[in-house]
Amino acid sequence: MMSDLFKILPEAVIGAVDLIATFLFMYGLKRMSSPVTAPSGIKVAGVGMAVAILASFLYAFDIGATAKPFLLLNLGLAVLAIAIGGGLAWWAGRTVAMTAMPQMVAIYNGLGGGAAAAIAAFELFGDKADGVTQLVFSLLGALIGAVSFSGSVIAWAKLDEVLKKPLRFPGQQIFNGLVAIATLAVGGYIVAVSRGTITSPVAMPVLIYIFFGATLLFGILMTLPIGGADMPVVISIYNALTGLAVSLDGFVLENPALMIAGMVVGAAGTLLTLLMAKAMNRSVSNILFSNFGTVVEQKQGAIKGSLKPVEASDAGIFMRYASSLIVVPGYGLAAAQAQGKLYEFVKLLQAAGVSVKFAIHPVAGRMPGQMDVLLAEAGVPYDMIFQLEDINDDFANTDVALVIGANDVVNPAARTEKTSPIYGMPILNADKAKKVYVIKRGQGKGYAGIVNALFYGDNCNMVYGDAAAVLTKMIEAVRALGTKAAA
Ligand code: NAP
Repeated sequence: MMSDLFKILPEAVIGAVDLIATFLFMYGLKRMSSPVTAPSGIKVAGVGMAVAILASFLYAFDIGATAKPFLLLNLGLAVLAIAIGGGLAWWAGRTVAMTAMPQMVAIYNGLGGGAAAAIAAFELFGDKADGVTQLVFSLLGALIGAVSFSGSVIAWAKLDEVLKKPLRFPGQQIFNGLVAIATLAVGGYIVAVSRGTITSPVAMPVLIYIFFGATLLFGILMTLPIGGADMPVVISIYNALTGLAVSLDGFVLENPALMIAGMVVGAAGTLLTLLMAKAMNRSVSNILFSNFGTVVEQKQGAIKGSLKPVEASDAGIFMRYASSLIVVPGYGLAAAQAQGKLYEFVKLLQAAGVSVKFAIHPVAGRMPGQMDVLLAEAGVPYDMIFQLEDINDDFANTDVALVIGANDVVNPAARTEKTSPIYGMPILNADKAKKVYVIKRGQGKGYAGIVNALFYGDNCNMVYGDAAAVLTKMIEAVRALGTKAAA
């Protein structure tokens, strides 16, 4: 009776701990849907992850006799791996620059895919996948995890500009298709051999190595032709794939925490991919298979008007005497790390009685939520931050739109130019404000590689310079006004 209890106790405890971890993942994810609750959501999900790791240690009490001699060694290695990985992640998380976040997400996502592929390798080499369903799921987990790993490494290299240009050659899609078919064929062959349907002159471990080689190659080939600028969406796709691979692994190992965490990541990654594609008005297949941002210049319609530069101090003083202002932050604000200066300037304006709001476009910057995080980092209160659909009608009744390092997300071509690559993308109506100031360094284009008619509009002035330097000058000019008034 007592011995029976000891047999079922570990399983019951693991089940309960897995359930707690699952609840924490879900609750954490729910809290991440709003910037106000997101910081605590991340912590809750982190605790969920720690609980899931704890559950995986409990499996040590539930193993067969053959594994027992290696138990302590394996547990020690697991603790060492967690300490090294956790230490590196802690250090990287603290030191990474805001503009390097997409690269960090790419590499961590790749490691997740690699881990899923490694678990699948353990299942395949260790004969864990005994039934045909388990075998197929292990092979799929290996395929998806390895593609996600090698593809994410290429995505990281592109974002970090280690790889500067997309690699394209004639017939590339057909070649990639053939590699994909060959990979699936090797997988099918493994299933047939292991079920005894056919005999193979090549040993099973060699077949598994060939399968992994082909999957890794496919991940590289699939990612190489995609432009660096599309990498955030690609990473989101790989993120969804990593989740799927993890849940397939979990199914084979009968590990509910892996299954559920994998499905949550898979579903969240898929939704994020679709949201990003929708916000850019592009299909996922267009992102994966088209050559965005490099061949569009000649399609741009003629632009009337001229660029009208003004001094930062003059623009700052004009805004000081406006009654309402909407700030549109973009990628350049993150690149300049000027969020602190921006909020300092905004506080000066508020003190002078100007009503200020921030307008966030869903794909401003280079990763979802980048602008929200940037403004939160500077201490901007959430009630000053508005999403596109909540603020777009306000521009027409606003004195000034201050566009900082944003370009595509305020390009009116999205409304009218049918041939523009961003046609149909919802944009922030900055051009409808009575006056527009645009801070940017020069005539650099945005991510889509097109000219912006807004900058040439009658109501628009350009304030050239790095966003941090320009804002410093604006702050000085507005402060000087206060000093003069007091004198
Ligand atoms: P953007 O269109 O890429 O434009 C950024 C602008 O910032 C550039 O025109 C650049 O002009 C300026 N800039 C760069 N460094 C600067 C600095 N230090 N100081 C001042 N200005 C600086 O950015 P966006 O308006 O934020 O639009 C985001 C684009 O990324 C969209 O096309 C979106 O579809 C795409 N995208 C976003 C995501 C996402 O998840 N957020 C994912 C994939 C793609 P100068 O060189 O002249 O300074």
